[in-house]
Amino acid sequence: MHLEKILQSQGFGSRKQCRQLIEDGKVTINGEVCRNPKASFETQHSDEQPLEFAVAGKSWQYREKVYLALNKPQGYECSHQPQHHPSVFSLLPAQFIERGVQCVGRLDQDTTGLLILTDDGAFLQALTHPKKHVAKRYLVTTNRPIADEQIEQLKQGVALRNEQGVYAADDCLQLAENQLVLTIHQGLYHQVKRMIAAVGNHVDALHREQIGQFKLPDDLAEGEWIYLNDEQVTLAR
Ligand code: URA
Repeated sequence: MHLEKILQSQGFGSRKQCRQLIEDGKVTINGEVCRNPKASFETQHSDEQPLEFAVAGKSWQYREKVYLALNKPQGYECSHQPQHHPSVFSLLPAQFIERGVQCVGRLDQDTTGLLILTDDGAFLQALTHPKKHVAKRYLVTTNRPIADEQIEQLKQGVALRNEQGVYAADDCLQLAENQLVLTIHQGLYHQVKRMIAAVGNHVDALHREQIGQFKLPDDLAEGEWIYLNDEQVTLAR
């Protein structure tokens, strides 16, 4: 693929802007400055060994599609047009926004933890389709002690206002007086908070630990992101 097209596909602006970056000597590929926008490079490396290039001294890896895991901090909205808080997209390089990266399901502004983002429309649709039941595991801190009956009710299923049927936790395990791990497979608006309210308690803090079989890595600090490799993407499905 031509270098100018590689840059454009990776979110570095229009073809003209990418050509300019190259002609200005801002782009190195395989460690060498390349000033020829039409120079051709192989992009079909494996995920383990993607084509590496640098723009204005910053290194990048070529990805046909990007799959990211972000450890979302409190106080960020999962929206490109946030209302009251900064957007989670402000935590990512602008190139990802330029290439259309979206959140795979949303977390509330005050929820922390695992958020997956991608520019792969098919993957996004598949994972957010109402019929696709990917399990999501949350660490829930409540503001009142959790009673055994509340755990039982959550497992049996609770009715939620304006929703048909009952919503049951796939798994619910008390960790401490005010803390439990709850796994659900749907993604209704405020679902965990509404389920906890339905059993007479209240969520003080909510943290997503896992999507499918993919766990938020322990060493991923709040506000930091990583690329997901093929294996990790498969785990999250
Ligand atoms: N359930 C909620 O109530 N909030 C979230 O952010 C995610 C699940």
